Amino acid sequence: MVHERGVERRRHEGNEERMATNGLLVRLWGVRGSYPVPGPSTARFGGNTPCVEVRAKGHVIILDAGTGIIPLGKQLMKEFSPENGSSQVSATLLITHTHHDHIQGLPFFLPAHAGHGKLHIFGPAGLSGDFEATLASVLLPPYSPVRLDEMRSIKVIQSLHESQVIVLREGQIEPEVYNLFHDQVPNGNNQVTIRVMRSYAHPKGGVYVFRIESDGRSVVFATDTEGYVGGDVRLIDLARGADLLIHDAQYREQEYMDPASPKQGYGHSTIEMATQVAAAAGVRRLVLFHHDPEHDDETIEAMEEEARRQFLATDAAIEGKTYLL
Ligand SMILES: [Zn+2]
Ligand SMILES: [Zn+2]
Repeated sequence: MVHERGVERRRHEGNEERMATNGLLVRLWGVRGSYPVPGPSTARFGGNTPCVEVRAKGHVIILDAGTGIIPLGKQLMKEFSPENGSSQVSATLLITHTHHDHIQGLPFFLPAHAGHGKLHIFGPAGLSGDFEATLASVLLPPYSPVRLDEMRSIKVIQSLHESQVIVLREGQIEPEVYNLFHDQVPNGNNQVTIRVMRSYAHPKGGVYVFRIESDGRSVVFATDTEGYVGGDVRLIDLARGADLLIHDAQYREQEYMDPASPKQGYGHSTIEMATQVAAAAGVRRLVLFHHDPEHDDETIEAMEEEARRQFLATDAAIEGKTYLL
């Protein structure tokens, strides 16, 4: 595994120049659901909770702030250091929902404390108020060592609505937010476009699904969502033709249906639900995400095999893996 990660890194470095102008780079930093599970039985697929990095048009985009964001933060501090001709980390952080496993790494994300650089955070409005208030309420002593307002690089926190589209322009740090119905959303070659969909298939307030697109390449991030009979039609629509679909696949069908401990309504999918969306949307590759903390490497490997019989171009998410789209 160490060797494989090394190969991935070298491939990434070799393509750095190409990535500066074309396509998307997607790197998985945390792929585990619910809570972190370090240890030998999870060493191959990884034990950190959700965090995915996307690079496009010079922008750093981060999906969720589980514990995977902590090593990502260290990596960014190194990459954007004065020795490398840069002194600030600027990033756009997209939060799918504020369950602990998706935000628990944020207080330990070094670039948020650096004081130079800018962090724009977008997330869903909660049941009890706007996103900033929700986030601030979990990052409060005595539950957290730092308060949200002590994180000096955080500049803008915004509640995002389904009707909005985020545009990141090449060479411009500030994101632009447009309304799908009222504004003319720009559609050029020099931008990254981020669309959002609210899925209601997750307790209690639902979850956001993001589609990030640049140069005609796209990745869809659909974690913490449960399938419907025939597939989630709105999700299938959002994911249509995507190069990469990262989809929740926490359970095997027998676990989901287990009469002793049924998982229906927990807000997570089976392998079948994930492959069904992938096939219906005609995506190029499916990544099974949000691994159950009870599943060891062997179980996940078996699930990957099972999934490939349903949709061939499937990988179980591996922490540290990079995809170039
Ligand atoms: Zn989760
Ligand atoms: Zn959740």
